[in-house]
Amino acid sequence: MEKINIAIVGGGVVGHALAYQLSQQGLQDLFLFEKLSYLGDAQSGRNSGVIHAGIYYRTGSLKARLCVEGNTLLFDFCRQHNVPAKRVGKLVVACTDEEVARLEKLLVQAVANSVPELALLDAREVKKYEPNVSVKKAMLVPTTGIVDAASYVKTLGKLASDKGVSLFTNFEIIDIKAEGEEFLITGLHHGKEERFLANKVINAAGLYSDRVAKMIAPDWQVEIEPLRGEYYKFNRKKHEGIWLNQYNVYPVPARVEIGHRQVEVVGVHLTPTFTNDIVTVGPEFVSIADREDYSKERKPKTFFLETARRFFPKLEEADLQEDFTGIMANLKGQSDFIIKADARYPNFIHAVGIDSPGLTSSLAIARLIATLI
Ligand SMILES: Cc1cc2nc3c(=O)[nH]c(=O)nc-3n(C[C@H](O)[C@H](O)[C@H](O)COP(=O)(O)OP(=O)(O)OC[C@H]3O[C@@H](n4cnc5c(N)ncnc54)[C@H](O)[C@@H]3O)c2cc1C
Repeated sequence: MEKINIAIVGGGVVGHALAYQLSQQGLQDLFLFEKLSYLGDAQSGRNSGVIHAGIYYRTGSLKARLCVEGNTLLFDFCRQHNVPAKRVGKLVVACTDEEVARLEKLLVQAVANSVPELALLDAREVKKYEPNVSVKKAMLVPTTGIVDAASYVKTLGKLASDKGVSLFTNFEIIDIKAEGEEFLITGLHHGKEERFLANKVINAAGLYSDRVAKMIAPDWQVEIEPLRGEYYKFNRKKHEGIWLNQYNVYPVPARVEIGHRQVEVVGVHLTPTFTNDIVTVGPEFVSIADREDYSKERKPKTFFLETARRFFPKLEEADLQEDFTGIMANLKGQSDFIIKADARYPNFIHAVGIDSPGLTSSLAIARLIATLI
C-alpha cells in the first residue's frame, strides 16, 4: 500500500484549484482522485460559465466573501495563463414595480459585499447598453464576466501536474477510515480495488460531497438535494431583434418552490459564450432524485421563451434550440458553502455544497482550504 501526503477526492474545478494552489506552495506527494473518465466533467463542465461579481449572497457569508475574492483571482489567473475569459458585464433587470423594489434591495447588499462600479439604470439608459432589452430598471454590474470553464480546469490540471501532482481518472473512492493520525483510502481504479494511506484528505466531491463526508462522519446531518439546470440557446446574429452586444442579462433573483423546497435562484438568464455568437438561455431548475439524471422530462421550449421574453421581447420560438443540462449540488436546509475541518479529524477537510458561485470562487476556496491544512 502506497503512503501519500494529501489526497483530493474529486476532479472538478475545486479539486483542480486545490491541486494547483497546494502544488504552487511547494507541497509534495499530492494525489487527486476522480471517478469519471474525464476531469471537470460534472458540475464544472456543465454550468453558465459566468464569473460572478458577488451581488447575490448574504453579506458576511462564505459565498459573498469567496465570490468577490475569487472574481479577481480568476480574471488574473486567466490573463496570466491565456484562458479565454472576458469582463463582459451584466444587467440585472426589473420589469415591474415590485421587481424594482427588490432590485434596489439587491443593490444595497451588493454594495455591502464590496462589489465595485455598480450603477442603477433607467429604461432609456438600459437601451444604450442593450437595445433589445426592454425593462423598467436595471443594475449594471461591470465586474461580471464569462470564462471557458473547460479550458480553465485543463490549465489548472496542467500546471498542477507540471509540479508533480498525480491526477487519476476512473478512480472512485469507496471508503475512507481513520487509522490513528492517517486515513486509509480505498478506491476502485478501473474497477480494481486499490488502497492508499494519506496524511490529509480533502473532500471536493461536488454532488457526492455529502456521501464522502459521511465516510468519516456518519452522524453528520448533511445532504445534497440535486437540482437540474436546463438550458436553451440562440444565435444572436439570426435577426436584428435578438442581437445582444455582450452583456449577461439576468432577472432579479427570486425565492421559488422547486419540488418541495424553497430555493433562491438567479433566474433564467441570457449569457454570451465563446462559441460563435451563441447565447445561452437558462438555467431553469427542476428537482431530481438521481444525481446523474441529465436528460429525462425536460421543460418545454415555450417556458424558456415566455420567461426570456419578459425582458427580451423579440425572441421567437424558432430562434431557440435545446442545449445542455447541468446538476447542481444544492445543500438541504442551508444556502452557504460548508468549508471546514472535520469535527473529529482536523486533517480531513470538507468542501460540501459547493454550488454556484463555485466556479467563480474556486481559487479563493483553494486558498481558504490551504490555510486550514
Ligand atoms: C446549471 C449550473 C450552472 C452554474 N453556473 C455557474 C456560474 O455561472 N458561475 C459559477 O461560478 N458557478 C456556477 N455553477 C456552480 C459551479 O459549476 C460549481 O460550484 C462548481 O463547478 C463546483 O465544482 P466542484 O469541483 O466542487 O464539483 P464538481 O465539478 O461536481 O466536481 C466534483 C467531482 O468529484 C467527483 N467525485 C464524486 N464522488 C467521488 C468519489 N467517491 N471518488 C472520486 N471522485 C468523486 C465527481 O465525479 C466530480 O467530477 C453552476 C452549476 C450548475 C449545475
